[in-house]
Amino acid sequence: MSDPVTGITTPIRLDYRYTPGRTTSEGLKAIKEGRMEGRRCPSCRKVYFPARGGCSMCGQEFAETVLIKETGTLATFAVVNVNFANRVIDLPYVTAEVVFDGADTTTMVLLRGVAPEETRMGMRVKAHWIPKEEWDYSLANIDYVEPIDEPDADYDSYKDLV
Ligand SMILES: [Zn+2]
Repeated sequence: MSDPVTGITTPIRLDYRYTPGRTTSEGLKAIKEGRMEGRRCPSCRKVYFPARGGCSMCGQEFAETVLIKETGTLATFAVVNVNFANRVIDLPYVTAEVVFDGADTTTMVLLRGVAPEETRMGMRVKAHWIPKEEWDYSLANIDYVEPIDEPDADYDSYKDLV
């Protein structure tokens, strides 16, 4: 009797073209220049980062641009123990949902500089960018976040984003 099948590898290819809207394009241009720009909803006043066209809660179009800081709070995270087929990172690693300072939404980014078992919600972190000459119209310009020497944020400050 053979061993049970525990996984399969299948070749798959997906070609697509992404066309961002006006607001998202402006946000991507900003990040290519090293700025993190969000947009504030005129109704609920929440700041969305990355920038998008309108508020998903209020349906309002955004008008105000807000500069987001490179520091933030780790709202939640996942320890990854299985690599993707084409993405090889030493296991285990941590993906984090970070509320960058000035934003009211989370951004998923890789966490480095702390062991998975020492990672905790509320940790204060800072973005680490890829080399400037490699910056593109992409959030991938932020390579990862790493802990900074600041006290953890109060749970109440990010509890709605967990
Ligand atoms: Zn709103």
